[in-house]
Amino acid sequence: MSNEKTATMNTSKKTNNIQLVKNYINGKWIDSLGTNSVNVINPANKELIAKCPLGTKEDVNSAIAAAKEAYKSWRQTPVIDRVQILFKLKTLLEKHSDELAKLCTTENGKTLIESRGDVKRGIQMVETACGMPTLLMGKSLEDIASGIDCHAIRRPLGVFAAITPFNFPPMVPFWFWPFAVASGNTFILKPSERVPLTQVRVFELIEEAGMPKGVINLVNGGKEVVNSLCSHPDIAGVSFVGSTPVAKYVYQTATSHGKRVQALGGAKNFMVVLPDANIELSVKTVFESCTGCAGQRCLAGSVILCVGDVYSKFQEELIKKAKEAVVGNGLEPATNIGPIISEEARTRVKGLIQSAADEGAKILLDGRLGVENLSGYFLKPTVITEVKKDMRIAKEEVFGPVVCLSKVKTFDEAIEWLNSSEYGNTASLFTSSGAAARKFSYEVDPSMIGINIGVPAPMAFFSFGGTKASFFGDIKAHGQASADFYTDTKVTIERWVKDSSIW
Ligand code: NAD
Repeated sequence: MSNEKTATMNTSKKTNNIQLVKNYINGKWIDSLGTNSVNVINPANKELIAKCPLGTKEDVNSAIAAAKEAYKSWRQTPVIDRVQILFKLKTLLEKHSDELAKLCTTENGKTLIESRGDVKRGIQMVETACGMPTLLMGKSLEDIASGIDCHAIRRPLGVFAAITPFNFPPMVPFWFWPFAVASGNTFILKPSERVPLTQVRVFELIEEAGMPKGVINLVNGGKEVVNSLCSHPDIAGVSFVGSTPVAKYVYQTATSHGKRVQALGGAKNFMVVLPDANIELSVKTVFESCTGCAGQRCLAGSVILCVGDVYSKFQEELIKKAKEAVVGNGLEPATNIGPIISEEARTRVKGLIQSAADEGAKILLDGRLGVENLSGYFLKPTVITEVKKDMRIAKEEVFGPVVCLSKVKTFDEAIEWLNSSEYGNTASLFTSSGAAARKFSYEVDPSMIGINIGVPAPMAFFSFGGTKASFFGDIKAHGQASADFYTDTKVTIERWVKDSSIW
C-alpha cells in the first residue's frame, strides 16, 4: 500500500512486513523499550498497517532527560532564530501536505478532503507560532512610584508535554508544541496509539527543518507514558486533548504533581434552529456538522433543537440530505463519510442508537443498516427524532454520524436545555435575526459559538477550548493563550540612583 511506503520507511523496523513505530528522542529514531504494542488498523478495510509500541516509564525518562538538556541552550536561542525553524517547517508541511493527508485518511478513516483540512489547520498553528516574537512581548510602565520603573517579561518554564487523541492525527499536536517550542520550552509529544503514523512523518519533517536535538521528542504509548509524563518532576506542564474521563484524570494527576495543565475533554454540542433560519443553509450545515469526520469531532453537532414550526420542514429536508450521503473509503473522491475508528467504537455508537429507540425516540433513518457488505467500520448516517432531554442519546457524546432532532416550543426552552448539559464545548444557532444571535451568544454556556456556522472552530490566533466537562484548567489553547500557558511572567522593579560623578 503506497501510504505505508511514504509513512515510516526510514524510521521503523519491520516485523513480518508490519512497521513497528519508533520513538524520536534526542534527535534519533529509536525503538521503544516497551515489549507490548497496539495494532494500527486502517478502519476502511480492517487492514493491519503498523504496530504502535506501548512505551514505558524509561522511554519517558530518556525523552525528558534529552528535553531538559536541550532546554539549556534552546532557552537562550533568540526567539527570532527559534521561529526560523518553524518557517522552514511550514514550507515542508505544505510541500508534503497531500502525503500527510493520505496517511491521515489511511490510519484515521476520514475523507481525503477532511484530512487536507486537518493538515491545513495544523499548518495554520505553525504560521501563528511564527509570530511568537510579538506574542511573547511583555509590558513595562515607568514611574510606578517616583523614579521607579517596572518591567514584566515572559520566560519559558522548561519541558512541556502533550497527549493527543485519535480524531485529528495531524492537527491536534500542532495546537501545542509550536507555541511551546517557539516560547523557548522543549517538548514531548505522545500521540494517540491508534494513529501514530502521521506524527512519525511530521517528526521527519521537523528533523528536516533543522530542529536541534532534544527540543522536541516523540514517545509513543498509552497509559504508562501518560502517567509518567503527568508525574515526572521535570515536566513543567501538560496539554491534553481527549475524552472527558481521561481529561479529568490527567488534570487531577498532573496538577497534584504541581504542573500547569490544560485538558480539553469531550463534548455534546447543541444546535438551535429558529423559524426564521434559512432552511437550505441550516440543513446542509447541520448535517455536515453532525456527520463530517463520521461524527468524530469534538465540535460535531449532535442534538438539533428546532423551535416551533420549523421542525417538520427541517426534518423532511434533513432526511433527503442524509439519503444522498456516500459512505465509503475516505480515499475515494466520491465519499462524504468515512468509517469510524474501530469495531469497539462502532458497537458503542450502535448501542447508543438502540438506547434512543428503547427510550421512546423514533429512528427515522437507521445507519446501522446497509453496511454489512462494506469491509470497514462503517455506519451510515442515522436520524433520530422525538429525542427527549433525559434520554442517553441527548446527554452522552455519540462520536458517530448521528443527528438527533427535537421540537421545542420556545427559544428560551432551547437555551435552557442546552445549558443543562454537563458539557460546554460549542453551540450553534441558525437564524436571520441579529437580536436572536446576540441573545444566544450572551446566554449559552459553551465557549465556542456558531451563528449560522456548524463547526465553530476558532482559528489559530483565537483561543480554543470549552467549559464545564469539556475543559479542565484555566488557560486555553492557541494564539495569545498559548503564550500565557507556556510562559511565566517575571516582573522586575527598578530604581537607579543618579551617580553625579559620571554626568
Ligand atoms: P481518549 O481519551 O481515549 O485518548 C486521548 C489520549 O489519552 C490518547 O493519547 C490516549 O493514549 C490517552 N489515554 C486513553 N485512555 C487513557 C487512560 N485510561 N489513562 C491515561 N491515558 C489515556 O480520546 P480519543 O478517543 O482518542 O479521542 C476522542 C475524544 O477526544 C472525544 O471525547 C472528543 O470529544 C475528544 N476531543 C476533544 C477535543 C477538544 O478540543 N475538546 C478535540 C478533539 C477530541
